[in-house]
Amino acid sequence: MRKPIIAGNWKMYKTVKESADFVKQLHEKMKGISDREIVVCPTFLSVPAVVEALRFSNIQPGCQDAHWENEGAYTGNVSPAMLKEAGVKYVILGHSEKRQYDGETDPRINLKLKNVLKNGLKAIVCVGETLAERELGKTEKVIETQIQGCFEGIGLGDMADIVIAYEPVWAIGTGKNATPEQANEVHAFIRKLMEKKYNAETAQQLRIQYGGSVKPENVKQLMGQPDIDGALVGGASLKVDSFAAIVGF
Ligand code: PEP
Repeated sequence: MRKPIIAGNWKMYKTVKESADFVKQLHEKMKGISDREIVVCPTFLSVPAVVEALRFSNIQPGCQDAHWENEGAYTGNVSPAMLKEAGVKYVILGHSEKRQYDGETDPRINLKLKNVLKNGLKAIVCVGETLAERELGKTEKVIETQIQGCFEGIGLGDMADIVIAYEPVWAIGTGKNATPEQANEVHAFIRKLMEKKYNAETAQQLRIQYGGSVKPENVKQLMGQPDIDGALVGGASLKVDSFAAIVGF
């Protein structure tokens, strides 16, 4: 039985104070929930305030990236070792906005993933096709290439610390979401790939989130699909009420 995991990706939104205020309010609403994992991923700057506010909470602090080295001359970056010390539990890797605007590639995501795991953190690895790729019938090929690149050399023993987020790029922040059936088809395909790469048990235990305009109105149908185990939520995670409603699907 896979425990659902709902994660909020705040992108470049919320000041330090707004972040701390948000999680204090969310914590009040989430008290007593233990049948699903709840994660919030603020900007690096807000991590310490969020960690502090969530000290006695069932909500786990995450972040939106981490470097492949633990220290060095890498201006503008933050390492997994630093994030671990700060109290972060989950790291989003390979988000399509990082791929699009910051030149993120599968080999780099793979290096980052290895270092995140080495530092005892958990990862949410994002994959997904563009609209043009979907329209050309290339969705499965794109996902397979991304998975192969991101998971190169990742051992069976690490799979329990990894969540995959399937996020069709055309559905992120656009208000257009994949239908539950369209999403489930790709989730099932990812699970098959993992069965081939690892084994049936690992594939069955792997949690695969859907991301792309998830909101309180559509989360229930998405979560009703057999291979959808959670949601990575952007826009609708920025308001306490809508994120709480999504967690409570
Ligand atoms: C995201 O940022 O991962 C995302 C899915 O955004 P949105 O929910 O706004 O589409």
